[in-house]
Amino acid sequence: MKHTKLNEMHETANQKPLSPPLIIAGPCSAESPEQLLQVALELKKTGKVKFMRAGVWKPRTTPNNFEGYGTKALEWLKEVKKQTKIPFATEVATEKHVYEALKFGADLLWIGARTASNPFAIQEIAIALKGIQVPVWVKNPLSPDLKLWEGAITRLKQAGVAQVGAIHRGFTAWYPSPFRNLPLWDIALKLKANHPELSIISDPSHISGDSRFVELLAKRAINMGFDGLMIEVHPNPKQALSDAKQQLTTEQFTHIISKELHRSKPGEELLDELRAEIDAVDELLIWALSNRMKLVTEIAQVKYDSGLEALQKKRWNEVLKQVSKKARSMGLSNNFIVKLFNSIHRESLLKQKRTIESKSDMVKNG
Ligand code: PEP
Ligand code: MN
Repeated sequence: MKHTKLNEMHETANQKPLSPPLIIAGPCSAESPEQLLQVALELKKTGKVKFMRAGVWKPRTTPNNFEGYGTKALEWLKEVKKQTKIPFATEVATEKHVYEALKFGADLLWIGARTASNPFAIQEIAIALKGIQVPVWVKNPLSPDLKLWEGAITRLKQAGVAQVGAIHRGFTAWYPSPFRNLPLWDIALKLKANHPELSIISDPSHISGDSRFVELLAKRAINMGFDGLMIEVHPNPKQALSDAKQQLTTEQFTHIISKELHRSKPGEELLDELRAEIDAVDELLIWALSNRMKLVTEIAQVKYDSGLEALQKKRWNEVLKQVSKKARSMGLSNNFIVKLFNSIHRESLLKQKRTIESKSDMVKNG
């Protein structure tokens, strides 16, 4: 019954042996020995967390914010690992970070989205990581560029890193969205299709940017066949020094993780997940229409200044031809697209006429 892409994805996911998802969890940033110990003990209690994550060098978009405690925090992590026996994971962005993190016994390294966007940085890290056995996971770059992501993974593999994985953390949103980053699941699924041997986990914390959506996105990722999750957990998210809005309390995390995270068939929960994504796409439609109408107002002014009519039949026929072709190539019905664009065009003509009238009134009234 392969009538939708989603069904196909479910079928593929459900054919896989149900190995438990790889769970990496912990605070966005290492903030104190007490914070780390408290989270580590809670994570351990769940029995499902393979690595505790904590950033020690924090890549912040704007300067003069908290940028992590660096090497001092690695000492805390080493100590917490000794006490709790939970292996730890941290982010590396330079050659120096690699040496420091390995020196303090990091069990897994990840490369952040900003670093993954820069092939020079990746190459430097790859050389520093030459032949290491510690797993290295690469987040997707900020821009929706599959080749850049694949390129980073290939550079590490070519350097002889034995275990390379990928982390899907969403892409910088270029239109208003309920999520901090756009999931664009297709890009991660394409990566998996191109490299079936590669493990890919999802990071619903950085995709959503909001603790309220983490569970929903986590389930969606597992349903689609991702191999695991990276989730931010903090003993007191409100007080967190970075990413406060998206971190889960240890109780929230335990609640999510204690339910069986399995690859479910489409059902009630999937309906909620898909509706949240429909809401995001609807926002995109409104954003696009509003931008189109802004351009229409500008065009009306240019037409007025050049003495042109609002309706330019030849141009409109070209637009219709163009969108019909594009729509067909994307599996949309021609009839539907022509109706939709004719309706957009009616509104656009009205707007242009109003703009032209008000301009000529202004001229008449001096
Ligand atoms: C992080 O994991 O805390 C982080 C900074 O992530 P990203 O590189 O995905 O923004
Ligand atoms: Mn973070």
